[in-house]
Amino acid sequence: MSRVIDGRAVAASVDADTRDDLAKLSGRGIETTLAVVVPTADEGTAWYVRSIERAAARLGVRTLVEKRPDASRAEISGRLAALSSDPAVHGVICQTPLPPGVALAEVAMHVAPAKDVDGANPMSLGELAAGMPGAFAPATAAAVVEILRREGVPLAGRRAVVVGRSTVVGKPLALLLLAENATVTVCHSRTTDLAAVCREADVLVAAVGRPGTVGVDHVAPGAVVVDVGTNPTPDGGLVGDVDPAVERVAGALTPVPGGVGPVTTAVLLRHTARAASLVQGGRPAAPEISSSPG
Ligand code: NAP
Repeated sequence: MSRVIDGRAVAASVDADTRDDLAKLSGRGIETTLAVVVPTADEGTAWYVRSIERAAARLGVRTLVEKRPDASRAEISGRLAALSSDPAVHGVICQTPLPPGVALAEVAMHVAPAKDVDGANPMSLGELAAGMPGAFAPATAAAVVEILRREGVPLAGRRAVVVGRSTVVGKPLALLLLAENATVTVCHSRTTDLAAVCREADVLVAAVGRPGTVGVDHVAPGAVVVDVGTNPTPDGGLVGDVDPAVERVAGALTPVPGGVGPVTTAVLLRHTARAASLVQGGRPAAPEISSSPG
């Protein structure tokens, strides 16, 4: 039987670090503030935003929630730009789903990278790929690495397999795992013999959005399995992408719910505290460009 990783306990340990940062900020008279633009009336999104508000209130982070269902691309972009230039706001996020025809990357380009605490601006992904200090990764991708780090799962030199290549989870997660010196394979819907590739993993992450994508046949004995998937069930519950029977072979497994979800919220607030510190202190300077050829 595998060890079940308690995401709520990991989130509490992330929150403890965030509290320390927030205390220092409040000592300097800074009220750390996260702005959330919600351009949808989607019920699942409303539930998630309420959970962010509750977690922020527990820590003492101020939230500004702007509900603008069915706003146009220009309106959403305009609000994200305005909040980015508001010195009283330290983090800016835009909730999905977006109105039809609006892509997250298009509107998120208007979030200042220094306040892009959910790593949605394509510039943040580029900075992450370039290994630039201070770049924000999407909170979910960062949450996976935070879980592995705080659970003491070694990554350097280990095989990591990420199933899913979205811009919000799979791709940035692959970059973060590379930065931890794992040997990373990214799988997707065209991967042939997914089970065989997954069985090579010491650390296997499922970020697909399809229950049962990862079964017992996909997991090497003792592997650590992180389930990012959140799939609603007809009875109002939530299941992940990983078949629960995997617990028979995995060394450790994150549950759904109670795994990656709570850590994602904790990381978002940790990023917001970091953004507040960086905005006041300035971002790490970009390396100087050498003027000498070659
Ligand atoms: P997405 O944009 O739909 O991407 C899904 C990825 O899975 C794609 O790369 C797709 O491949 C791949 N895929 C689909 N079917 C596959 C199959 N049969 N075999 C292998 N790969 C397959 O989804 P997402 O936004 O990354 O989200 C993934 C899941 O994570 C969802 O359940 C979402 O709700 C959940 N999520 C959870 C959190 C959290 O905080 N816990 C946050 C964000 C997302 P192609 O690229 O080839 O299409």
